[in-house]
Amino acid sequence: MRGPRRWRDGLLLLVLILALGGCSPAEPVAQKRQFFSLGTVVELSLWDVDEARAGEATRAVESILSAAQRRWHAWEPSELTEVNEALARGETVRVDEETRRLLASARALSLASGDRFNPGIGRLVALWGFHASEQPTGPPPSQEAIAAWLADQPSMRQLRLDGNRVSAENPAIQLDLGAHAKGYAIDQAIEALTAMGIGNAIVNAGGDLRAIGQHGARPWRIGIRDPRSPGVFASLEVTGDESVFTSGDYERFFTWEGKRFHHILDPRTGMPAGDTRSVTVIHPSAAVADAAATALFVAGPEDWPATAAGMGITHVMLIAQDMRTYLTPAMAERIRFEAPEPAELIVVEAAR
Ligand code: AMP
Ligand code: MG
Repeated sequence: MRGPRRWRDGLLLLVLILALGGCSPAEPVAQKRQFFSLGTVVELSLWDVDEARAGEATRAVESILSAAQRRWHAWEPSELTEVNEALARGETVRVDEETRRLLASARALSLASGDRFNPGIGRLVALWGFHASEQPTGPPPSQEAIAAWLADQPSMRQLRLDGNRVSAENPAIQLDLGAHAKGYAIDQAIEALTAMGIGNAIVNAGGDLRAIGQHGARPWRIGIRDPRSPGVFASLEVTGDESVFTSGDYERFFTWEGKRFHHILDPRTGMPAGDTRSVTVIHPSAAVADAAATALFVAGPEDWPATAAGMGITHVMLIAQDMRTYLTPAMAERIRFEAPEPAELIVVEAAR
């Protein structure tokens, strides 16, 4: 009796081993780590690294992003608020090399965007109540306060960078890097991962991301949020080294007397930019993609192709308030819409 039973037990064991083999832990999987930084949930995805490396990579990324948040915070005491205090007094202030580089990048992108991306508008952002950790509740600032801000006309053109010394021709310039520093920090994080020998990863901060390499044999797959519902609106495949950034009117806003007032401000009017719901941009650099998504949001459905051309952006999707969806030809080739497809798709060349 023992013979056949052993045989049967052996067979059972073999079946079990084969079954486990089918989902063997040795098979590579994407590891995902989440933490809170830059005011949002950050997700780090890594392909084919062991637990120890994933932990090491997570610590490195977390420390880079937290350092960026501390240094360049627009309203909590930081290196940036010290710079702003000096600029308001008309003084020259020394910054370290990293901050100098970030300010030089912000200045160049602002000029390339024709001031639509204008990180010198900190006072206006504060006036609207967005320099607060909680969502503001309104009311909107008075017409007089906005008119007074507009009369000062702060432009990044008036920010002087002389080596590591920063000054401004206009004391109304107050720096707010909320549309640029996140991208800059994500670039720093990807550089650190690359230096660690990690070639396949995504650093995703609240839907804004840079991806390198791929997900095993296939590209990374990225979802783009629907600007008016919690679902996914479209998806993209990303391979190599690319950043995907979206600016939306749903990220920070308050409703006052039935009207939505959001956080992306048009420096030409002092008001929330009116005609756009969201803009998604693909570009190799996260710092550029971040600034460009904001600039094209401000530019709106009429002006965005010229602004994109000025900033060297070839991949754009802009969803207007009327839900018309504008795409560059290069973006149209990449994007996959979730059913149902947008009612009105308009493909426009960036350069005009
Ligand atoms: P983003 O979500 O990248 O579009 O950045 C929006 C944040 O950037 C806002 O919360 C403000 O702090 C700041 N901001 C708003 N409007 C502008 C603008 N026109 N140019 C530069 N920064 C802006
Ligand atoms: Mg941005």
